Amino acid sequence: MPPDRPPSVDALARGIRDTGLPHPLLVDVARAAIAAGDPSSARARAEAVAVALLGPVINATGVILHTNLGRAPLPSMPAAGARRYSNLEFDLVSGSRASRSDHAARLLALAAGAEAALVVNNGASALMLVLAALARGRSVVVSRGELVEIGGGFRVPEVMAQSGCELVEVGTTNRTRLADYRAAVAGDVALVLKVHQSNYRIIGFTEDVGVAALAALGPPVVADIGSGLLDAATPWLAGGPPPWLAGEPAARQTLAAGAGLVTFSGDKLMGGPQAGIIAGRADLVALCARHPLNRALRPGGLVLAALQETALAYLRRDGDAIPFWRMAAAPVAGLRRRAEALGVGTVVGTVAVAGGGSVPGQDVPSAGVAIAGDHAAALRAGDPPIVARVHEGMTICDLRTVDPADDGVVAAALAALQAGAGGP
Ligand SMILES: *Cc1c(COP(=O)(O)O)cnc(C)c1O
Repeated sequence: MPPDRPPSVDALARGIRDTGLPHPLLVDVARAAIAAGDPSSARARAEAVAVALLGPVINATGVILHTNLGRAPLPSMPAAGARRYSNLEFDLVSGSRASRSDHAARLLALAAGAEAALVVNNGASALMLVLAALARGRSVVVSRGELVEIGGGFRVPEVMAQSGCELVEVGTTNRTRLADYRAAVAGDVALVLKVHQSNYRIIGFTEDVGVAALAALGPPVVADIGSGLLDAATPWLAGGPPPWLAGEPAARQTLAAGAGLVTFSGDKLMGGPQAGIIAGRADLVALCARHPLNRALRPGGLVLAALQETALAYLRRDGDAIPFWRMAAAPVAGLRRRAEALGVGTVVGTVAVAGGGSVPGQDVPSAGVAIAGDHAAALRAGDPPIVARVHEGMTICDLRTVDPADDGVVAAALAALQAGAGGP
């Protein structure tokens, strides 16, 4: 037998069993390694597959809602365990069928001051369903200043076209007046749509029209507020609203101003799981709930359980139980103390941001530690991976987005890097 005969796929796969991957995946990487003429690459390929599996990371970027890192981390879920049966669509009193809107959606409506609410898979599908259910084949009036694109290919004009309504653009990019809307609603208009600009700002010579004035025009106003701030007064924060929140539209105030419906994401400023919430007038929510698209966009029990925990925390006014708010509201002095306690690198003042396309340009003062050199890749290769920022030759770990329970892991990883680099 020639000594350089390539190993069999099976033998190669068995040789890298210790990577912990299931056999079919090992066979897959072994086959790819042999096909590439480099059987010895099988182990590295298997490790790359293992690293690409969905898993926890430590976010030391200071971007609180990091879209690439899963936006908002979830509250702990004590009761509604995913490993058990649940009363997802079951009334425990009557023993008959109930609706999956009876739990999280009802609580969220209460927290947002809405008559009713409906939960779907994300913010994009919430707007899609509202337009399909309330405006299919009819006109929807929207300002040219609000035809936005949100990250990941959500473009308002395209969503409107997909849901089968006719877009009636009014005003200009920077200025839209009430008279522009008034001229447009003279026809057969199903809705007036107001879209929060979320991830950008138009500054300078600008003008737009608030929800209260739009509501007086007649057709229901639907406000896609985006980030899901439930109440501008933030009664769940002991210190009241932080300054960087200024100007962010909130569900409760938008509905109070006369919007028929608001739509928003569950995993931006609301701090819950990926979900889309439609909240407002009971008759309009019911039309959305009855539309066939609702069945296609409905969330699963896991999401509803996480959303219920989030909603209960809001109703208890317990911002500490919502990781996004716990991190967002943490005083800088406390972050500095944690940074000093790490005992590694230099304590630095940093600038965190809300992220997730929310409150752009608003800085959240923060603190962390810096060590010399670019160690981002080495930190990402750790277990668990740490995602840090590199700025002017320094690697910076911002502690605002690090769970205090992970401080020890961060300290150890940075200390090991410094030791490897030959001291501080
Ligand atoms: C983020 C956002 C969306 C999309 O929400 P997803 O939950 O990401 O689908 C839609 N509209 C506005 C205004 C947003 O800010």
